[in-house]
Amino acid sequence: MCEHHSPEPTSRLSRRGLLRGGAVTLGLAVGGNVLMPGKAFAADYYHPFSGYPLTGTWQDHLDAGSLGGLDYGMSVGTPLRAAGAGTITNIPYNGTGGHTVTISHSNGYRTQYMHLSSFSLSNGAWIGMGGVVGLSGGQPGAPGSGSSTGPHVHWHMINPSGVRINPLDYLGGGGGGLPKTTTEEDGVPGPVMWMRTQNWLRIESGYTGPIDGVPGVNTYAALQRNMRDHWGYTGPIDGVPGTYTWMAVQRLAAAWGYTGPVDGVMGPNSWRGFARFINQDSWD
Ligand SMILES: [Zn+2]
Repeated sequence: MCEHHSPEPTSRLSRRGLLRGGAVTLGLAVGGNVLMPGKAFAADYYHPFSGYPLTGTWQDHLDAGSLGGLDYGMSVGTPLRAAGAGTITNIPYNGTGGHTVTISHSNGYRTQYMHLSSFSLSNGAWIGMGGVVGLSGGQPGAPGSGSSTGPHVHWHMINPSGVRINPLDYLGGGGGGLPKTTTEEDGVPGPVMWMRTQNWLRIESGYTGPIDGVPGVNTYAALQRNMRDHWGYTGPIDGVPGTYTWMAVQRLAAAWGYTGPVDGVMGPNSWRGFARFINQDSWD
């Protein structure tokens, strides 16, 4: 499906697979990471494509004479999210790779995304984990598709020595989920809590923005939809949470051990209850 290896017919992508391709499942390896100079820190990365069908394995690539890669089938125009934070380099015509984005990460590793239909950012731009590097492509013959024979993204990592490596090896078997938020202990909402919240809202309530831990109007609108659907919120879906939105969140928290008032004022105990909910493995 990609450069230097045998094509994967588009027809082998099931309709279900394509539908599943509409949702990105996050996976983020956290086990056993120790911050050491020059050592990879896998918790700084997640697997942005784990919710899509793997249509070309690393070994498939090697067998076809490629230096390696992973192909994930997805409809043209799917937002491609950064596996980790870093600096963007766009390579408009990267031979068989077509439109290619390279992210240079702070630990010397790079990730590359190939066969894009469009770029999102300029050269030298900074991107956070989960930000959109561009839109997927791969339609045969389309600008930027390179040698691709069907819609997909090709993804690989490059280590600091310049050797291509399998992201799944690096992340430890494909990622073990988003880290748990410490809000459950300290009652203080932070970026990890909001990343998990965004992923929960992506799964349950149609949130389509970045999983970046920075809640904005879209995050709050999805939160309001969830509160309307499950926790008795009847106010507007305007992305501006007020007392009634937070009262609904407190009702959720009460189902997870919060015993304080339902007054719309989120204190540490309200957040602890919410965090117990959001720390469930199902929202990894
Ligand atoms: Zn490939």
